[in-house]
Amino acid sequence: MKFNTKTIHGGQQHEPSTGAVMTPIFQTSTYVQQSPGKHKGYEYSRGENPTRHALEKAFASIENGTHGLAFSSGLAATDCVLRLFNSGDHIIAGDDLYGGSYRMFTQLFEKYGLTFSFVDMNNPENVKNAITENTKLIWLETPTNPLLKVADIEVITLIAKENNLLTAVDNTFATPYNQRPLDLGADIVMHSATKYLGGHSDVVMGALMVKDEELAKQLHFIQFAAGAVAGPMDCFLALRGVKTLALRVQRHNENGMRVAEFLKNHSKVQSVYYPGLEDHPNHEVANKQMNGFGGMLSFRLKEDSREATFKVLENFKIITLAESLGGVESLVNHPATMTHASIPAKEREKLGITDSLIRLSVGVEDVYDLIEDINNAIG
Ligand SMILES: *Cc1c(COP(=O)(O)O)cnc(C)c1O
Repeated sequence: MKFNTKTIHGGQQHEPSTGAVMTPIFQTSTYVQQSPGKHKGYEYSRGENPTRHALEKAFASIENGTHGLAFSSGLAATDCVLRLFNSGDHIIAGDDLYGGSYRMFTQLFEKYGLTFSFVDMNNPENVKNAITENTKLIWLETPTNPLLKVADIEVITLIAKENNLLTAVDNTFATPYNQRPLDLGADIVMHSATKYLGGHSDVVMGALMVKDEELAKQLHFIQFAAGAVAGPMDCFLALRGVKTLALRVQRHNENGMRVAEFLKNHSKVQSVYYPGLEDHPNHEVANKQMNGFGGMLSFRLKEDSREATFKVLENFKIITLAESLGGVESLVNHPATMTHASIPAKEREKLGITDSLIRLSVGVEDVYDLIEDINNAIG
């Protein structure tokens, strides 16, 4: 089955008791048993729920995995992965991570004895050099948020395999339409399904996809035992979102490229961060491992002051100033004070997340309207 077909039919079946073509919202916490332990496969909805089950199969299908898991948020999915490890274990992560991942690693898990090294993954040598005898996992986010750095998934998973480490990839920005890490050697894919998989800014949800039976079992146990499952209504919405993923991402890719090119030639713009641009430092790797470059981009204004940047941000009319990304509507965000405020100021400066940086989630509106809006806002 090709990807576009998988988004609609992958892992799906019509509802067996009624023939409903669309998976219903099974808004139930529990299921009848004819005799203790004798039931139709469902006991309690933290363990299994038919709506969630349908979505989890769709998740597995679109990432070419064998198992999918749906969580109450992207961070709950990440939390589930980290619970695979024990006190003393070491994890290598990228240095330009989603702010909430960084916060979870350093403020929640370090106190339980997990240790982390944050390295620039653009150079796989940095990953190699960070490996210790306690290293268990490489946590990869590519493209990164908000600077759109791209790491070579194939090369890094090879390093991981040579050293018996697991690799998990946060594939939120790329989407499985553009990039499929399991095919490139990764063990776990993580998504904030809040973003492109849901696609309509109406649910908060996380996903994990794997291709190994044993790993799936362990993660499912943690999902059940820790309890951060996605609810049936949210699963219904995300399942509906996944059906149009291919169509939406095609347009996100087209619009993203057009907006990046427009910004690149704008006199008030200092630099544009978009892996589809030929002068992006990781363009070659992006071209190799991605089918498209997505709808996420950041740019830096020439005038480097918070005041000037805020003025631009207040001027948008169609594009909405808000956190989050990946919906059909375009959003604009100020990483330094919004999504990445949880990263210490010094770290932020070092990474280049300064006051003049603006992040755009380019939606699927008519690109002429978007470009006009951006042009008016920048002035
Ligand atoms: C939003 C996001 C997350 C966190 O997901 P939530 O659904 O907000 O918990 C993780 N990684 C990336 C890249 C994100 O954009």
